[in-house]
Amino acid sequence: MNKPQLQRNWLKDIRSAYDTVVIGSGLAGMTSANLLAKMGHKVLLAEHHYNLGGMATWFKRKGGHIMDISLHGFPCGMIKTLRKYWSQDISNRVIQLKNIRFDNPQFSLNTSFDKLDFTHILKDRFGIFKEVIDEFFQTVRGMNFYDDIVMTTRELFEKYFPGRTDVWRFLMEPITYANGSTLDDPAITYGIVFSNFMDKGVFTYRGGTDHLIKEMKKELIKNGVDIRTHCMVEKIYVEDKTVQGVRVNGQDIACKSVLSNSNIKTTIEQLVGEEKFGPEYIKDVKNVRLNNSSCQVYMGIKKGEQIPHVGDLLFSSEAEEYCTEKILSKDITSRTFSFYYPEIRPGTNQYSIVSSTNARYKDWANLSEKEYLHDKNDLEQTTLNALEKYVPDIRKKIDHIEASTPKTFKHYTLHPSGTSFGTKFEGLKVSRDLPKQINGLFHAGSVGIIMSGWLGAANYGVIVANETDKFLRQRTPSLVTA
Ligand SMILES: Cc1cc2nc3c(=O)[nH]c(=O)nc-3n(C[C@H](O)[C@H](O)[C@H](O)COP(=O)(O)OP(=O)(O)OC[C@H]3O[C@@H](n4cnc5c(N)ncnc54)[C@H](O)[C@@H]3O)c2cc1C
Repeated sequence: MNKPQLQRNWLKDIRSAYDTVVIGSGLAGMTSANLLAKMGHKVLLAEHHYNLGGMATWFKRKGGHIMDISLHGFPCGMIKTLRKYWSQDISNRVIQLKNIRFDNPQFSLNTSFDKLDFTHILKDRFGIFKEVIDEFFQTVRGMNFYDDIVMTTRELFEKYFPGRTDVWRFLMEPITYANGSTLDDPAITYGIVFSNFMDKGVFTYRGGTDHLIKEMKKELIKNGVDIRTHCMVEKIYVEDKTVQGVRVNGQDIACKSVLSNSNIKTTIEQLVGEEKFGPEYIKDVKNVRLNNSSCQVYMGIKKGEQIPHVGDLLFSSEAEEYCTEKILSKDITSRTFSFYYPEIRPGTNQYSIVSSTNARYKDWANLSEKEYLHDKNDLEQTTLNALEKYVPDIRKKIDHIEASTPKTFKHYTLHPSGTSFGTKFEGLKVSRDLPKQINGLFHAGSVGIIMSGWLGAANYGVIVANETDKFLRQRTPSLVTA
């Protein structure tokens, strides 16, 4: 007879009170937990999943395959962020991706994706005057969050490259993949992200996401963060407009502050409850639009097989022109392929390929089980068809393939509609105003396009950790930094 399984107590030996409870271990949550612990606060990091990392995650499959979910590329600013807020060793592992490739009916080209190369391509390939290119770069470089946000990206492109949809595509397609923004979003959301990348190109982490998150976990433990996985925060308790504590896996824990890395709308509407906020603020919350989600196809190459160097990141599209609707459509015409060569995980001699597409939750949410499995299979097969153009014998080379959909992202990260990049730009203001509504309640995580992606999320974690520290010190002036 099978013995009844004993339920493991994931909260064993938990303290009854903390200075801060960080809800969620995305890059923003982990970075803020690490910083707050270094500043001398007692920090609980509660994550509902069995792994840390949030979207910055990976999974393993038979055959030695390790699949990265969101390690496709980040701006060089990540080097400094990792060094300052994590460790020199972690930062030293950041390397540049030198071969970014575009292939679509309008053009086919390779680039190192930095300002110099983009200038050269815009001038020689697209025939744009150097003066116009310089002025464009100057304008996007000069954009900052406090600027007038009336101009859209479409208007920005119309101004500098009127009617040149090929140029628009070259400048816009990678950013749409990087943060879900469209031509109709404020130009500032494009300008800041584009300038970040244009600074020096696209970078990745040697060792893969699994290595990065394991190193981060070591740092968190070293700095005294109490890490609890399998721990769902169900409620944030608020009395007299002040945080009192949280309920985790059915158990109440007191705390002076909460820093939520859960989705901003979920934090307000479900974890706290709308009734605790002012009506004007709730109106703004209701107007926050979620960003789109993603589909991915993960392909593991058989041991001993190789794939030629066809690029690190390949933006491939069959659509005649750049079109957000087509990029989001379930009828896929555009895919970003990330090729992981053995250099990414030195010593493993393993190759894998991940295809990513932007997607809408509603296109996947209401299918029957049979339809869902059918459509996932279709996604895998059409992706292989598209990949055959670049790796002709790909079907013979793989021994593993599987797909994820917006439902998968929702399941693992709890983001409503499986949003890959949090919210549209209006989410940032709601996130920033949260502590003005409730004392001791903070939010850090993908909001507002600018604060999205690996770099945006980690940097936002730093900003909000400093604000949480300030709040805690006002409450306990005797606190001494460790
Ligand atoms: C397919 C895909 C590809 C991407 N590619 C890139 C890329 O190449 N480069 C790049 O820079 N960015 C990329 N991104 C975006 C990037 O991964 C995210 O913007 C970033 O990782 C988000 O970090 P975050 O801190 O906002 O939190 P998230 O990663 O969203 O994590 C939030 C965490 O909170 C936990 N949580 C939520 N609610 C609770 C609760 N109640 N209790 C306990 N835990 C809770 C979740 O489980 C999760 O772990 C990609 C995203 C996707 C989906």
